Amino acid sequence: MTWLDCPRRYRMSYLDRPPPPKGPPWAHNSFGASVHNALAGWWRLPLRERTAQAAGDLLDRGWLTDGFPDVAASELNRARARQMVQDYVAGLDPAAEPVGVERVVATRTERIAVSGRIDRLDDRPAADGGAELVVVDYKTGRHALTVDDARTSMALALYALAAGRVLRRACHRVELHHLPASRVLAWEHTSASLERQLRRAEDIAAECAKADGRHKDGLPADRYDEAFPPRPGSWCGWCDYRARCPEGMAAAEPRRPWDGLAAVDGAASLPGTPLPGTPLPETPLPRVRPEPPAPEPPPSAASEPGPGGSASRLAIRSCTDGGQASSFSP
Ligand code: SF4
Repeated sequence: MTWLDCPRRYRMSYLDRPPPPKGPPWAHNSFGASVHNALAGWWRLPLRERTAQAAGDLLDRGWLTDGFPDVAASELNRARARQMVQDYVAGLDPAAEPVGVERVVATRTERIAVSGRIDRLDDRPAADGGAELVVVDYKTGRHALTVDDARTSMALALYALAAGRVLRRACHRVELHHLPASRVLAWEHTSASLERQLRRAEDIAAECAKADGRHKDGLPADRYDEAFPPRPGSWCGWCDYRARCPEGMAAAEPRRPWDGLAAVDGAASLPGTPLPGTPLPETPLPRVRPEPPAPEPPPSAASEPGPGGSASRLAIRSCTDGGQASSFSP
């Protein structure tokens, strides 16, 4: 992730040329991308082929192996991911066609242009007897999630806003579907709370664009930190640029590429069982016609699939001062 997490990381990710070398690929990104791809592929199958077995087969065929320490670990996690997607789709109604799968939505204000890809956009009955759009975001990380993660996610709010505008439909509900815990964390926005997130995004984009402008105007490298200060913390262990960042190296030990994987032999992390210490789940994963951190804050970019995968990504571009796109993980 970028600006909000750490401006220095943002600079190294988007502005430095040539781009600095990144660390090795993360196994949890491979895991997450494989799951996302399988779920997206499942909805693209003909209705009669949307079975749990088919989801597992899609997972097997598209399994990504980057970051795993060896074949055995990769295979163990592939089996776990297969079970996860099979359990998940078994709770879905295959006939409940989503409005979109990995659907790109975009909107703009006078100050910013927003675009992003939503994992799934559902069409559900609404409380008033009509219908509403629901933004669904798949999560595969090992960290427990709470309703607050759904409530405070700027990306989810902007997806809802953009989807509502693009499709000219009501869209206020956002949901994180946390597959490892078999839980849905949902939040019902109001029009006012969506607008608040949009204003917040505008402010952040303006701040980011201002720093971009200084970089473009030739800010010397020895003054980069004035515009792009480091934000060191325990998350630095997951940062792709830790090896090039003295503050990050001092803040956290390096993580191994496979350290972000859930323990595969722990019953607590298997589907359907809340993770240890997880606040009691708000909503079990839906088995209805769909209608379907933890001690250490997870690094947003490292905890879910990266750009090569199929996780949803949000880009915000400043319209007024030509700023670079800034991306946020939901
Ligand atoms: S190691 Fe930490 S402080 Fe350094 S760039 Fe990465 S996130 Fe920022």
